[in-house]
This record gives sequence, structure tokens and C-alpha cells, in this order.
Amino acid sequence: YKEHKRDDLKELCDDQPYKLELIDEIPESDILSTYSHGNFTDLCQGPHVESTGKIPSFKLMSVAGAYWRGKETRPMLQRIYGTAFESQKALDEFLARIEQAEKRDHRRLGRQLGLYSVHEEIGQGLVVWHTKGARIRTVIENYWREQHYKHGYELVYSPHIGRSGLWKTSGHLDFYQESMFSAIDVDGQDYYMKPMNCPFHIMVYRSDLRSYRDLPMRLAELGTVYRYERSGVLHGLMRVRGFTQDDAHIFCRPDQVEEEILGVLDLTFQMLDAFGFDDFNISLSTRPEKYVGDPADWDYATQSLRQALEIRELNYDIDDGGGAFYGPKIDIKINDAIGRSWQCTTVQFDFNLPEQFELTYQGADGMQHRPYMVHRAILGSIERFLGVLIEHYGGSFPFWLAPVQAVVIPIADRHVSYADSVKKQLQSHGFRVEIDSRNERMNLKIREAQLQKIPYMMVVGDREATQGTASVRGRDDTNLGPLPTSEVLQILIDEPNYTT
Ligand SMILES: [Zn+2]
Ligand SMILES: [Zn+2]
Repeated sequence: YKEHKRDDLKELCDDQPYKLELIDEIPESDILSTYSHGNFTDLCQGPHVESTGKIPSFKLMSVAGAYWRGKETRPMLQRIYGTAFESQKALDEFLARIEQAEKRDHRRLGRQLGLYSVHEEIGQGLVVWHTKGARIRTVIENYWREQHYKHGYELVYSPHIGRSGLWKTSGHLDFYQESMFSAIDVDGQDYYMKPMNCPFHIMVYRSDLRSYRDLPMRLAELGTVYRYERSGVLHGLMRVRGFTQDDAHIFCRPDQVEEEILGVLDLTFQMLDAFGFDDFNISLSTRPEKYVGDPADWDYATQSLRQALEIRELNYDIDDGGGAFYGPKIDIKINDAIGRSWQCTTVQFDFNLPEQFELTYQGADGMQHRPYMVHRAILGSIERFLGVLIEHYGGSFPFWLAPVQAVVIPIADRHVSYADSVKKQLQSHGFRVEIDSRNERMNLKIREAQLQKIPYMMVVGDREATQGTASVRGRDDTNLGPLPTSEVLQILIDEPNYTT
């Protein structure tokens, strides 16, 4: 370690333009220092280890081009990525995790399994779902709608764009505009793509006089929203510019708040359990320094969130002062199969919008009152949730979600018509079954079906056709042997299924 006078240091670095640029930006009052190892001298505040021998274990990971100081107008330099750990064991574990994550990368699996794609021609961050991805999505959405009707929600639909006045009232144009797409001119009026569904649901509420007897009102929508994200942060299905929220807004009286929160929590854990998640991080965010609304309302809402978590005996952290300016909230992160955490569920009070839109209901006392309003999403974004599902299962979706649940594989051409009858029998019970009648070897068809992660393969040849059976294999190499088709059907019926 060595400290330098500015002029001396500049002389030392006179053949290094990037270092000179940095030196010029260091304030006069700061100490200028370098660290040296052998004949390598680095402009640095330090500290450095004395030699690489002091690092228990390290690995150089990759090399990539990077613009000087992250600006596209500056020269492209080479950046070398490396990582270091306190032990070889810790490094090995880290590398194994990375390898796991790469194998499960939803962008790779999305292509391999024919689920979705993103096209430069359509625009960055805008997803098209292919037939198999659309199958999974349809199953999820049907399940979602069914559960919401069962839990007392009503579904609504709303347009993708709305006039600027709406977004002015909601505050989006003042506080959220940098995340919105630019205005669209329609007959001289500005319209905006919706970044959220809330104002539309509020208009449904406001379209009639509401009485205390109408509450709670739970309005739900799989609403597609558009938000501007810098192109550098876009990532597969996880960070996109257009996505579908499984959104709902609950309008209720103060005496209904706690039961509503309990209802949301119950629906949340029931759904997340169906998708195979059982490990969560829950946090409760309370009033920040800058906030709108009555502190008494905040306390009441925060207390009901806390109370609901306590009643359901859920562990949670408190993010003191971490709430949005308009209300306290509960966030639920799900932990996936390789220990990563994903934000999905949010239950968020809002003391701002009911005020801005002057929402009221007539109480039992005949007076007008302000309803409580709660925004909530359970899966968050359908796109992102599917990305999480793909990586959680490494593409091997549980039977009820698998886009193709079984494939019938005829050994030779003469078995195709029997294969077709097996397929039709299973299909008539609502299962998603395909037939691979290509003129290819059986082993190749089996291998490809395994790569497609299809839960069941049913091989049929002479013996099966004569005996009315199918030889059943699982994608995990289990071999159930030849079974009568009625038993095959029963195996599929016995698989856990969350849709009716
Ligand atoms: Zn350094
Ligand atoms: Zn909302």
C-alpha cells in the first residue's frame, strides 16, 4: 500500500488513460493510494490480500466485453469475472448451485419444451406463448378462476388503455410515469397503456351507489399490464415489459378487514401448496415516514395484518417503515427447489386511491363512509410465476400442469391404429395425450419424450395390441410393464389434480 501526491501518481499512470480519468475525478481532499503485487500496481483504496496464495479457493468464471463505465458510447473493454470462497468446499457448493441453476434456466427449458419465445420483431420483454406454454397457462388460469369464484370473488375485465385523466387522478402520472409506456394520441386525447388494473376496478365500484350490505366487494382479474423496464434488466419471463397480474381489489368495511386478510392468506397458501411450494418468507411492512391517510387507519390495518398472521400461526419478519406511502402490506416470497427466493404474493392496503377517487358506501347509520381498499396478487405475474415453476421443477411439471401428460408410442406402423384407440380412450377422460407415429425407432421416441419431460410414455406393439394393454414408462425411467388400458387410465386418474 502506498499513498501518492496527485502529480506523482499521474506521472506513474501517464500511459493509462482510464486511470488518469479516474484520478481526475477523485476530489482534491481525498487520499490517492495504490496497491502493488510484484510488478502489478492498482489504483485502489484497498485493502488487497498480500498474495493470491492467501485466498483459500477461487475460480475465474468468465470473460465478457463491457463498456468502460457502463456507457455505450465509451470503448469496449474486457471484464474478467471471478469468485473466491473461504474454503474449497464452499466454492464447490457454489459452483454446484450455479450448475443446477443453469440446467434449470427457464429460457433454455422454455425453448427446449416449446413453451414461449421473445422476438426482436415484436419488441423486447414481450412474450408470445407457444401451444405447450399456453396449455400450462390455461390450466393455471382455469384453476385460478375456479378458486376465486369459490372464495367469493367476482371476475371483471378491463381495457388495456385508459385516458390520461384517469392516471392523473390515480396518481400514476405524477409518481409512476417513468414506468409507463408513452402516451398514445387518440383524437387529440392522451391515452396510456395500463401499468396497473386498480383504477379500472375502482370504476366498477364507483359505477353504482354502494351500501354497507354490498361489502365486502372482491373484484378479480387476470389483467395484463405494461411497464417500461430498461432493456438491460429484461430477463426471460422474470423481468418483462408486458405481463398478466392475478390481481384483485377488495373493498370492505373496517369490521370486515381482518376476515378479508385471513381469506386472502388461506387462498394464497391453498394455491401455492397446489403448485408444490411449501417454504415461504413472509414479511409485514409498516408505516414509512412519508405517508398519506389517517394514522389511526394505518394502525388498525397494520394490526389486522399482524393479527391474521398470528391467527394462522405464520412466521414473519417485520420491515419497520418499509410500507408504501399509501398503506401497510404483507409480502410472501416462495423458496424454490434450489433454495432461491421469489417475491410472489402481496397483500397491500391503500389509503390513497379511495380518497383520490372519493369512494364511499352508505353505512347502517345512513351516513357516507370511506371503504377500506386492499390490492392483492397471489401468483404476482403469471409470466414470472411460470418462469419460477419451470425452474423449480426443472421443466418436469407435475402431472396436472404438464402440457402433454402422456404420449402413446407405436413400435411400428401397423400399431398406429391401436395406439390411436388408446390415445382416444385416455383423451375422452380429459387427459392431454399425444401419439408419436413418426417412422422412427422406439428408443429415439422414448428418449425424445423424456427430453420433453412427458410424465408417461405408453409403448404399444404386437403383444399390447393383442392383449389390449400398454407398456407404461415414467419420465424418471420407471417401468411399470404392460398393463390393461383400464389400469393405465386408473393411474392417470389417481394422479393429484387440482382442477375439476
Ligand atoms: Zn483494487
Ligand atoms: Zn391494485
